[in-house]
Amino acid sequence: QWVDFKKRSCSFSSFLPGSDLIPPGACKSLNAAAVYANNEVNLAEVDIYGFDYDYTLALYSDALNTMIYNTARRFLIEHFKYPEGIRKYDYIQNFATRGLHYDIQKGLLMKIDAFHYIEPGTVYRGLSPVPDDEVLQLYGGTFHVPLQQDSGFYGKGPKVKQFMDIFSIPEMTLLAVANDFFITNDIDYDPVHLFKDVSVTIGMVHLKGYMYKWVILHIYNFILRGEETDAVLHQLVTHGKKLFLITNSPFSFVDKGMTHMVGKNWRDFFDVVIVQADKPHFFTDCIKPFRRLDDNGALRWEKITSLDKGQIYKQGNLFDFLRLTHWRGSKVLYFGDHLYSDLADLMLRHGWRTGAIVPELENETKVVSTDKYALNLTWLQALTGLMERLQMHRGTESKEVFQEWQREREELRVMTKNLFNPHFGSIFRTCHNPTYFSRRLSRFSDIYMTNLSSLLNYDQSYTFYPRRTPLQHEAPLWMDQLCTGCMKTPFLEDMSIIR
Ligand SMILES: [Mg+2]
Repeated sequence: QWVDFKKRSCSFSSFLPGSDLIPPGACKSLNAAAVYANNEVNLAEVDIYGFDYDYTLALYSDALNTMIYNTARRFLIEHFKYPEGIRKYDYIQNFATRGLHYDIQKGLLMKIDAFHYIEPGTVYRGLSPVPDDEVLQLYGGTFHVPLQQDSGFYGKGPKVKQFMDIFSIPEMTLLAVANDFFITNDIDYDPVHLFKDVSVTIGMVHLKGYMYKWVILHIYNFILRGEETDAVLHQLVTHGKKLFLITNSPFSFVDKGMTHMVGKNWRDFFDVVIVQADKPHFFTDCIKPFRRLDDNGALRWEKITSLDKGQIYKQGNLFDFLRLTHWRGSKVLYFGDHLYSDLADLMLRHGWRTGAIVPELENETKVVSTDKYALNLTWLQALTGLMERLQMHRGTESKEVFQEWQREREELRVMTKNLFNPHFGSIFRTCHNPTYFSRRLSRFSDIYMTNLSSLLNYDQSYTFYPRRTPLQHEAPLWMDQLCTGCMKTPFLEDMSIIR
């Protein structure tokens, strides 16, 4: 009967967009401007809103990544005397994605899932993919990477590092390019030295203030959607919320950006402003005391006994912050783009509510909303269901059909992955599982969104409810959970015309 089914059934490629393959009632139109909830959050209970600065209040254009890459590449050649040939490699947009792991000793960039398995087909040495059987050989016959030993809970280890910063995308690209140069030119090198040197050059771009200078000089080119940040702050203050800022960036840089986005009186919005905070240590160590900066940006020497509106503070630590403000627990909601440096400790140790800024959602929701994706995924799920049942039949013909479906399933998985990024696919999913990034996102953030302006679509007493997704042993009881790619978004129709 299975063989008959196979003969009667058409292959996936004969289905056209809009065919009745997609179940009726499936809703695949997502809105990138929605706020997504991992945990229930009632905004009426939130009195205090905290913000990171870079990639949270200030969004930067892709041009900044190109500038960071070009400058770090120049440092690598001029300061570290790396071969001139590396200069030929221009910045490759969309080569790397956030959340990837890098094996420092083997010089491999890869995507790892929530169970610490490498996703086949996503391992790159330089700019070239490494075949799956070679990956197996390199990792002792398994795709599993024991991250507890190598990478640590926060993704930083001596052997494997996870790149979680949006600023690290040019760093991954420069690593891939330099590896590629050495390999293709058959030059002997140590990937560990390369990793350290690239890391230092990227650090120089930040520490020597290059990035700050470019952004300040060409603020209209680099800072995006400043008027939306202004609108969010306005809305919160109008509703009597208290605001604070904790950033690792220096005051002069933040001041220029905020003045551009919000106006020269931007400090009136904030009850506390902390710069050069040295996160994540700000959240974990109680060593560094707060210092005050005077109006000229010079450091004052007096002991800080209160955090006052209108003043600028430097360094400090969260324990003193909590003692001086009494802003504790779930009445505080803090937004940041770095899951570890901004959010993890607040969520795990201090019980603040957390909001993750994930700019990648804009593209990911766009892809998930396409007919192509919905068709691929629906057929992939259907095929998987058929295979699950067919495996019970042990006849030769059944086995042949099974193998054919297995091949088709593999093709579909690759096609689906390529819709997001041809090298590494979606930042949220591997073929079967959530990614390592995705698991961390759901653990450390109560809510997540493309950018802060998504908040403008909800009023100040709105409750974000996470969808009740069935566990594996539970039956899917609601229509919106039966349909892959579907999302229950409040006011979906109204929201679709916001932008
Ligand atoms: Mg940031």
